[in-house]
Amino acid sequence: MLLLWMKTNPMFTLCLLALLVPASVYKNCCTLELWKPVATQVTMADTTPVSAHFYLSFDDGPINASRVVEELVNRDSIRINMFIIGKYVYKNDTMRALFDSLRANPAIEIGNHSYTHANRHYHLFYTNTAAAVKDFELNTDSLHLTNRLVRLPGRNMWRINGKSRNDLESGKPVADSLELLGYRVVGWDIEWQADSCGKMTRTADEMMTVVESLLQAKKTFTPGHIVILFHDVMMELPYNYQQFRAFIEKIKANKSYRLEHLSHYPDQRTTGPVALYSK
Ligand SMILES: [Zn+2]
Repeated sequence: MLLLWMKTNPMFTLCLLALLVPASVYKNCCTLELWKPVATQVTMADTTPVSAHFYLSFDDGPINASRVVEELVNRDSIRINMFIIGKYVYKNDTMRALFDSLRANPAIEIGNHSYTHANRHYHLFYTNTAAAVKDFELNTDSLHLTNRLVRLPGRNMWRINGKSRNDLESGKPVADSLELLGYRVVGWDIEWQADSCGKMTRTADEMMTVVESLLQAKKTFTPGHIVILFHDVMMELPYNYQQFRAFIEKIKANKSYRLEHLSHYPDQRTTGPVALYSK
């Protein structure tokens, strides 16, 4: 009889059981969860085929504007890479704290942009290969970098599993030496450039048009993958900030586009993306 009543009155039965069970047993349970339809707790995987992988890379931090970049990352829930200059990190305690914050952010992947950034004398820097390589190694050691992602200051050069690309002759021996040391030298497929006043030269719409034409023409270093270069300092201007956010919205609006960290850039010896290194 009791069992029949319990079967026909499940809500009352649960309430009765809750009164009988010691509070210590159920006080941490969210009873509402019991009545949630299971389907609402499951996130369906997006099965849209991926047509392009985007890698957003920011150079020349940390500087004050790097805070704006971090704020954008958090606000828009995006993944980015930052190529960091060690000399700037050790400029003062404020920059060290900022670097610690950037590194602790799982949405930000840190890469090596040399310790001195060639002190902005690029040709001289690349004439002494040993000293230049030492500068990158110093950055790796002082910042405790582990992922071996490196970008050359003032040069757009690539070295990934035997495939290479150079923009200038000067710098080639340094890129080759870094590759031998196990670094992945990552350049960029397109830079979102700024004019002499620091204003972006393309709108978000124009940038996406160029990006999509590069992808369609398979003119990126790896077809289907595009690495875009930004500089932290650009995000100080509200106009640039707005255009960047509009660009992100365009990426997100296309379900076949993916934002990735460079550690997921494909290994050239394989046919698909491979996670090369952990953070
Ligand atoms: Zn740079």
